[in-house]
Amino acid sequence: MREVRFHNSLTGNKEVFSPEFSDRVRVYSCGPTVYNFAHLGNLRAFLFVDLLRRSLIAFGYKPDMTMNITDIDDKIIRESIASGKSIQEFTKPWIQSFQEDLASLNIQKLEHYPRATDSIPAMVEIIKHLKSRDLVYEKDGSLYYSISKFKGYGKLSKIDVSGMKTGTRYDTDEYEKDDVRDFVLWKFPKQEGEPSWETDIGSGRPGWHLECSAMIRDVYGSGVDIHTGGVDLTFPHHENEIAQSEGAYPNESFVKYWLHSEHLLVNGEKMAKSKGNFFTLRDLVKEGADVRHIRFLLLAAHYRSKLNFTKERLEEAEQSVSRIQNCVNRLLEESSKPGIILENSNIQTPEWDGFLDSLADDLNISKFLALVFETVKETNHVLDGGSISGPELSKKLELFRKIDSILGVLSFEWKQETLDSEIDEIVRQRQEARKNKDFAKADRLRDKLNELGIILEDTKEGLRWKRK
Ligand code: AMP
Ligand code: ZN
Repeated sequence: MREVRFHNSLTGNKEVFSPEFSDRVRVYSCGPTVYNFAHLGNLRAFLFVDLLRRSLIAFGYKPDMTMNITDIDDKIIRESIASGKSIQEFTKPWIQSFQEDLASLNIQKLEHYPRATDSIPAMVEIIKHLKSRDLVYEKDGSLYYSISKFKGYGKLSKIDVSGMKTGTRYDTDEYEKDDVRDFVLWKFPKQEGEPSWETDIGSGRPGWHLECSAMIRDVYGSGVDIHTGGVDLTFPHHENEIAQSEGAYPNESFVKYWLHSEHLLVNGEKMAKSKGNFFTLRDLVKEGADVRHIRFLLLAAHYRSKLNFTKERLEEAEQSVSRIQNCVNRLLEESSKPGIILENSNIQTPEWDGFLDSLADDLNISKFLALVFETVKETNHVLDGGSISGPELSKKLELFRKIDSILGVLSFEWKQETLDSEIDEIVRQRQEARKNKDFAKADRLRDKLNELGIILEDTKEGLRWKRK
């Protein structure tokens, strides 16, 4: 198998990937907190997981992957109480919309999607182990982790714990790096109506950080090869996961490689629900955006670079996808011509090695896309030249199929004609662009219609189109 390198946040280096569990590579990714629609920033983090999965498969690994669903935390409790619903009733539609978003973005299904509320016994088990190692104390009706007693605290986020105020505590799930304190593991019920579980350590509910440590144990029995999440989770969430899992099970390896994906920004600021500067997939689709273009936009930047979201970027993504798709369409059109016989087995594509090499370099998608566009250019050149043989067509199509096993934005169904409904939609978008005085867009759409052989006519009944 080729040498693959990932940037490991734990060491700060690109390291050769050598999985502990190589028969099935174990990957755990922090998933959504289900109290609202996911925004594009969340979806960027989930698309990174998809790129990782598709790349691992392309390298020849069999992944065994998990994304958790956080269906209990402070925000969920607050909102479910406000809406008068049980936690389960409240989270159900948000879990469903999360699954719908993944499907419409062509994100491959993972092997496991555990819910935090299904792992309460594993959480209690971890607390018992931590207690036996004297890492837990009780204060004001909650159980806290005594971080000064865990030697490795700070090794992932590189915080300096020397100035830490020992014995000061945090109840909330999220807090800043410059104020390191003991974090809550288990909260005994304080208010009427607060959800709680009856357990050996008393009735109560878990702190957020404990959930992931427990779900990893429930799914895998021990640790994982790769753990992913957005950079904002490095501290305190992942630091606390390490403290819990390594504190409770010191003889086991918890996580070998930590991979963190960067943020999606809007006007230079992190896209976040709390800031109100977010778009959901549904918002953009309602405005006429195509999910394939959104997928491409979010995938096309390297996962460790910040990405600023703009409508112009979305248009660029549209152009990029069209350029690749048009090339594939030309190949499909050629192959439907009489006398062309395609090969359907054992098609060799030695060029694919270069694509894999780029992904093996910490998922270098920019190098990968540069190769894609070189391939498009070279293929168009061959097609412009006239004759292309069946075997050559087969090789080109096979190479684009492999490219799409990573990109997931192309169609390989040859359509003789663009559907009427698709043309209606382009005409509608062009009129809207004109109305909004976006003449550049209107011109581009007119060119597209021209390419498709469509003539526009102004009639008494309004604008009409017909085929040339
Ligand atoms: P949440 O539902 O807020 O728990 O977040 C789910 C995932 O989305 C986590 O991995 C976060 O790090 C990630 N995330 C949140 N906001 C952004 C953003 N603006 N850009 C990229 N990832 C994000
Ligand atoms: Zn997590």
